[in-house]
Amino acid sequence: MFSTEETQVARTIELNDGARMPVLGLGTWKSHHLPRTSVQCATEAAIAAGYRHIDTAYDYSNEVDIGKALRSKMQQGIIKREDMFIVSKLCTTHHAPEDIPLCLNKSLNDLQLDYLDLYLIHFPVALKKVGDELFPMKDGEVLTCDIDYVDVWRGMEALQASGKVKNIGVSNFNILQLERLLALCRVPPAVNQVELHPYLVQADMIEFCKSRNIALTAYSPFGSPARPPEQLIGDTDPHKLLEDPVVADIAKKHRHSPAQVLLRYHVQQGISVIPKSDKPHRILENTKIFNFHLTDEDMNALKGLDRGWRSCPLEEVRSHPYYPFV
Ligand code: NAP
Repeated sequence: MFSTEETQVARTIELNDGARMPVLGLGTWKSHHLPRTSVQCATEAAIAAGYRHIDTAYDYSNEVDIGKALRSKMQQGIIKREDMFIVSKLCTTHHAPEDIPLCLNKSLNDLQLDYLDLYLIHFPVALKKVGDELFPMKDGEVLTCDIDYVDVWRGMEALQASGKVKNIGVSNFNILQLERLLALCRVPPAVNQVELHPYLVQADMIEFCKSRNIALTAYSPFGSPARPPEQLIGDTDPHKLLEDPVVADIAKKHRHSPAQVLLRYHVQQGISVIPKSDKPHRILENTKIFNFHLTDEDMNALKGLDRGWRSCPLEEVRSHPYYPFV
């Protein structure tokens, strides 16, 4: 039984090796566009609010500040390392065998940690390594390369064997890619982190992952309202999930906010969820999702909003054979 607010936030789901991942985590993508200290403040506010799961990535360029927040809270005796579930991701420019450990070591160094709880292949498509560029381009084209994600997975398995990573998983893999990986791997992926929300229900992915004991983490649970403006139509955003009237009605009925309904939607399906906010009041608001229950009718109404819409389609690499969203 969960008696305090903090332990409610620390609710966990079991991974395929028995490890437990807190169902609610703090997303941190785009926090690096803010003043350098903002993601540090956000991480500290999240820990104070009871979050024990932080999601970051090499290419969010914010791991130094997250590391400062973790160190500070550990030094204050508020958390111990083993209380936290820290997730990072292998950069798409680091898929070559020799680059995989380099990428992890940079993240560990920046985060001031000696291990990660979960390390993910960020995206199945590899990009060329050109200096420190995160998204190398030439003549308007993204520079991809043809490294097989199954070979990348072997590098991930080696990282896990080294003890620097407790669990390994993938992100943005489609079902065919997961099937191929499962057929060829030694260690099955613990997690697939994918975009999920009522505008992108992905019932087939949810069913597949459940049947193969792969946990899902839902990213962009609010439809990433701060996504790049080129995805807007004119000045208008046709995909305002947080303002959808169906979500608003359900929120009103349960006396919770639309954001809380959108988070509860995942938790109730046994899916972990990583909303991003850098505002302490919203970071706290996003934890209050364990004291109400969406009815079957509510869940069906939310799933009925499906329009197969992605906020993060990564169209720039659509022509690559490993592009997952086809
Ligand atoms: P999101 O969580 O869907 O939305 C974040 C936006 O919602 C921010 O603009 C935030 O604004 C706002 N927000 C947060 N809480 C709110 C609330 N209670 N009420 C109203 N607005 C609220 O978007 P996301 O950042 O794209 O996705 C979440 C996380 O998933 C990322 O940060 C990242 O960690 C991960 N992710 C992973 C991948 C991948 O490829 N694996 C891709 C995308 C995202 P404020 O900050 O101003 O509060």
